[in-house]
Amino acid sequence: MHSVASLDSMTDQTPTSTPVDPAAVAAALDSVCDPEIGKPLPELGMIKGLEIGPQGQVTVQVWLTVAGCPLKERITTEVSAAVGAVPGVSHVRVELDVMSQQQRTQLQTRLRGHEAREIPFAQPGNRTRVFAIASGKGGVGKSSITANLAAAMAAQGFRVGVADADIYGFSIPRMLGVTGAPTKVEAMIMPPEAHGVKVISMGMFVPDNGPVLWRGPMLHRALEQFLADVYWGELDVLLLDLPPGTGDVAISLAQLVPGAQIVVVTTPQQAAAEVAQRAGALAGQTQQRVAGVIENMAWLPCPHCPAEGNGSPSHRLEIFGSGGGSSVAQGLAHLTRAEVPVLAQIPLDPALREGSDTGLPLVLAHPDSPAALALHQAAAALAGQRPSLVGRPLTLTPA
Ligand code: ADP
Repeated sequence: MHSVASLDSMTDQTPTSTPVDPAAVAAALDSVCDPEIGKPLPELGMIKGLEIGPQGQVTVQVWLTVAGCPLKERITTEVSAAVGAVPGVSHVRVELDVMSQQQRTQLQTRLRGHEAREIPFAQPGNRTRVFAIASGKGGVGKSSITANLAAAMAAQGFRVGVADADIYGFSIPRMLGVTGAPTKVEAMIMPPEAHGVKVISMGMFVPDNGPVLWRGPMLHRALEQFLADVYWGELDVLLLDLPPGTGDVAISLAQLVPGAQIVVVTTPQQAAAEVAQRAGALAGQTQQRVAGVIENMAWLPCPHCPAEGNGSPSHRLEIFGSGGGSSVAQGLAHLTRAEVPVLAQIPLDPALREGSDTGLPLVLAHPDSPAALALHQAAAALAGQRPSLVGRPLTLTPA
């Protein structure tokens, strides 16, 4: 093995007689995390060597997981800064090398905590809350809501991941502004991160936004890969953006992560609500819990009568009618014999669409807008729920 790169970093300090404490250098390295994995470099076996010279010159050798690692500059800068701040260090040199296949396999095992491939969210005791965002038909705002809920949860301090399971109609990377491609460590995929949200999508694997022409079994495998092969780390919440309707992916998810709960997105329109209820009704058959309903495009604040200074809202134009959200919630409550709340009613807001197009979700760009406040509230309600019931079968009341 030879070094693939090295970088000298002069610190502001001139050589001093203060001896460098190796324990302090080790502690400094412990403070540097691999940006993709989010764990300290030494814990990941990424420190190849360390030399401390008599004049306070320190050389740190780092193992990169892959050659051409897109984050090697960041790792180099952070190692230099951390070690350079240790008393007595006059100069830091970072040398980069690349792990062998055997080392990558060891790292993969270390990250998984075991050798077998498995879906962490389906294991007993797993505390990640998994929500599948479903809709009856396309265009009701399911993906926009998923992206905004995720960004809102991350802003509220939750550890969040989004798996874009809308394999044909992927749009999550654009909505969250993710441009990076995932790095692979053997069979393990490191999800890129945006706005504090880890994201994986078929869009990251399809060249030039091309079409995906897959049958059911391949969709099942893709979903399985997203759940088992992506290194999600510790998550509080995983959101899955399901394709519209009651298709193969929803059924696969029920098999792969039985504890996943469903969030149904609908518009207020009665016709849309009926279709949305059908999508949610799948939960009754798969014994999944419906966490709630989100009514999107609920109204448009009248542009001709702005909100009055006394705080009363402006006149609402109910473009798509009204009542869809509550009728879906009532229908699903009846069907699943469980309480199904309407989690939020989100108004139409051109800024929400703009945020989806630019990759800066509304909840971050305009957090005080009525739509963002409603989304923040729904995010808090979902993420703050008690831990999931993974591994514990839900008791069903006979019909
Ligand atoms: P789906 O995932 O259900 O197909 P999208 O999230 O792609 O729907 O939304 C469809 C279109 O509607 C997008 O252009 C999106 O920006 C826009 N949109 C969704 N919700 C709203 C809203 N509340 N206000 C304004 N535009 C919205």
